[in-house]
Amino acid sequence: MSNDSTNAILLVSQNIICDIYSSFSNSCYESGGLIGSKEDNVIDSFYYDKGKEERRHDYIPNVDELQHQLSIWNKEQIEFRGIIHSHLRCGELSQKDVNMARRVLELNNIPSILMPIYIINKQIIVWYEVLNDNIVLRVPKTTKSGGR
Ligand SMILES: [Zn+2]
Repeated sequence: MSNDSTNAILLVSQNIICDIYSSFSNSCYESGGLIGSKEDNVIDSFYYDKGKEERRHDYIPNVDELQHQLSIWNKEQIEFRGIIHSHLRCGELSQKDVNMARRVLELNNIPSILMPIYIINKQIIVWYEVLNDNIVLRVPKTTKSGGR
């Protein structure tokens, strides 16, 4: 099974990278957020979600809040592209993360979703794309935000 989105270059706006770093660097681990795209194929939108409760080992999204944000994005024609969340030190997706991603694929009937992890103690972002039958490591190209 092939998928076009995994062959295209992943472009991420420099502004969004800055937003992600400033949001996550002050948070405890396992917070998260939505990432989206307004300009063609560029990840240029980010909505931070500190998650549902403290002291846990999985990111538990504030589903109601995120649904509300997605409806705002929908009006602004921002396409939902994925979910980012933070880990303290592990750079790999947990089985729960993958299960959550695949549930989102199913619910939204989309072929793939970006699932980047922000690693707090290394201060780096590792970009994954989750498909139904595969998980792909992506290396994004940073770009200046479009439309400004
Ligand atoms: Zn995780």
